Amino acid sequence: MTEILKVTGLSKVYSGKVTTRALTDIQLTIHKGEFVGVMGPSGSGKTTLLNMVSTIDTPSSGDVLINGHNPHLLKKKDLAAFRRRELGFVFQDFNLLDTLTVAENIVLPLTLDRQKLSDIEQKLAQVAERLGITDILNKRTYEISGGQRQRAAIARAIIPGPSLLLADEPTGALDSNSSRIVMETLEKLNQTDAATMMLVTHDPQAASYCHRVVFIKDGVLSGEIHRGESRQAFFQKIIEMLSFLGGNAHELSSIRV
Ligand code: ADP
Ligand code: MG
Repeated sequence: MTEILKVTGLSKVYSGKVTTRALTDIQLTIHKGEFVGVMGPSGSGKTTLLNMVSTIDTPSSGDVLINGHNPHLLKKKDLAAFRRRELGFVFQDFNLLDTLTVAENIVLPLTLDRQKLSDIEQKLAQVAERLGITDILNKRTYEISGGQRQRAAIARAIIPGPSLLLADEPTGALDSNSSRIVMETLEKLNQTDAATMMLVTHDPQAASYCHRVVFIKDGVLSGEIHRGESRQAFFQKIIEMLSFLGGNAHELSSIRV
């Protein structure tokens, strides 16, 4: 099986007035077509891990390989191109530009890559159809719902055909119905396109769509569980694991069933 992401011996120490050891000796491999969730209490190192993988920040030690390449060794200019082609990003706050239409937002990475207009139009039509947003392509981002915005953001993330889709709390700003639609959309992309995804979330309902969930506590990987047949049973297992690891009450209070 192809290893899309291979993280070995990854540690991160933030030094400043106080020194924070945010990650310690993380090992994580994600194979092609896997849908992996990363969970853990607030401050456990989830975003730090995602930032090392997405090359937003650099590790103190250890390696990150994406499709066999270490992006942290690339020069700035090559890194920008690598990120645009290999990685897709989905954020909690959508990160869409409200001066552009939905369509213009979605094709932005292709425009930046100077692709041919006819190719861009064809890819746009395909991806919009897949995400069920064809009828809102000409709207502005403030004219559509949160769930539609997140589906537009997912369309923008996948349109270049990245090897790995990274999502940090993609349902964090959505109501339960929109969250469900967004997670079903990601699940469908994973099933039909074998899209490889890493989802950071503190929402057990969202995590229950993954194949596998790994848990971080105090910067250390502290276990993983796999989904069987039933998503509902997986949801229960996730809740049990979180309470075992001692996630704080505030985070568990945001559970949506
Ligand atoms: P999570 O996403 O799981 O809530 P983070 O990865 O954001 O956790 O944070 C992990 C730890 O690293 C926390 O103790 C946090 O305070 C610290 N941290 C995160 N980013 C920085 C930074 N830029 N500088 C210093 N400390 C940081
Ligand atoms: Mg975080």
